[in-house]
Amino acid sequence: MNVLIINSGSSSIKYQVIDMTTETVLAVGLVERIGEGVGRLKNTVRPETDAHETVLEQPIADHRQGMELAIGLLTDPAQGVLRDGAAIGAVGHRVVHGGEDFSGSMRITPQVIEALERNIPLAPLHNPANLDGIRVAMEIFPDLPQVAVFDTAFHQTMPPRAFLYAIPYELYEQDRVRRYGFHGTSHRFVAGECAGLLGRPLAECNLITVHLGNGCSMTAIENGRSIDTTLGMTPLEGLVMGTRSGDVDPALHLFLKQNKGMELEAIDDLLNKESGLKGLCGMNDMRDIHRAAEAGDRRAALALEVQTYRNRKYLGAYMAVLGRVDAIVFTAGIGENDAVVRAESLRGLEHLGVVLDAGRNTERSREARCISSAESRVRVFVIPTNEELAIGRETATVVTGKEQ
Ligand code: ADP
Repeated sequence: MNVLIINSGSSSIKYQVIDMTTETVLAVGLVERIGEGVGRLKNTVRPETDAHETVLEQPIADHRQGMELAIGLLTDPAQGVLRDGAAIGAVGHRVVHGGEDFSGSMRITPQVIEALERNIPLAPLHNPANLDGIRVAMEIFPDLPQVAVFDTAFHQTMPPRAFLYAIPYELYEQDRVRRYGFHGTSHRFVAGECAGLLGRPLAECNLITVHLGNGCSMTAIENGRSIDTTLGMTPLEGLVMGTRSGDVDPALHLFLKQNKGMELEAIDDLLNKESGLKGLCGMNDMRDIHRAAEAGDRRAALALEVQTYRNRKYLGAYMAVLGRVDAIVFTAGIGENDAVVRAESLRGLEHLGVVLDAGRNTERSREARCISSAESRVRVFVIPTNEELAIGRETATVVTGKEQ
């Protein structure tokens, strides 16, 4: 079955078509600047073999027009990978916030849409954009099964002691204020791959998965289930990210208001867009930060140190929570590529049974691999994440009822 995977943002749509029988990517595309002056659509067919790229630049009024342009290219008789729309068997949608309503992927029904609308206050930027993508796909493919795959679902197994904030309980009961966690599709995917490498069922694995990209999060996984994670009610808490602060004292809001005259919205912007690595050193791409640090930029070195120290602190916390840890898994842009960040994040954890193999850690490869030394009690892996493939697998599982 070919699955169309859609990740719909406020002014963009990312998509892929994957043949789930062979797990081959047939096409990948990005529609950008929807509703702005000139929009842009880039579609690449067969990216893994004889890639053929098409770029369109024209006004793209809304998500519907963007999706129709993309479908036009995918079904183009000359070079499209699908002869007609019917060659797609199902559509899988990435949905950021499923709140407490969803602990797994769901076939989209009017009730599911209602629940997504109910959860808009928890993700006011993301859920409306995801809903736009769902509505457009349902209009274009009214007869195809559509599946929602939630960033939050994997973390719904967290116990109350991990998901509750120590604030008046009524805020949880009435307004659902709690930790939800995000990046769940990625954590679940690399955990599954890791179980395969360890040669046992995921349900018997205790893991710490470390997703370090622009957004960063860490998850403690006990017997295959998420029991704690660093992102919170929104994707701002926890680790130091590209432009997001991660943990700060919540009283910082009041301080900034009283001493800098900032409004709440400006403070939210500061913490989400101007903080993290960027706030500390002016750069948020880790490659630039390394170059600057090597050239003697002290703030770049400090940003690296603050980020890896925070990683180490949470690794220690999750090792304490889990007791037995079979493996630590690094993934996403930084986690997969940055040997220095990995080594610094694990520095000094030898007494807890984590010993890196320096040679394996610095080897460059796109493959999943073990980077700990033979005597390490806790194995350490680098495992590339693939959220689109994970959404494709989930969608196929929901539609066929068979685990992929
Ligand atoms: P997103 O969270 O947007 O999906 P990615 O997982 O693609 O992000 O990660 C993007 C980040 O990964 C970049 O901002 C950059 O800091 C980092 N990155 C990518 N390649 C490398 C590399 N070779 N070395 C170090 N960091 C890298």
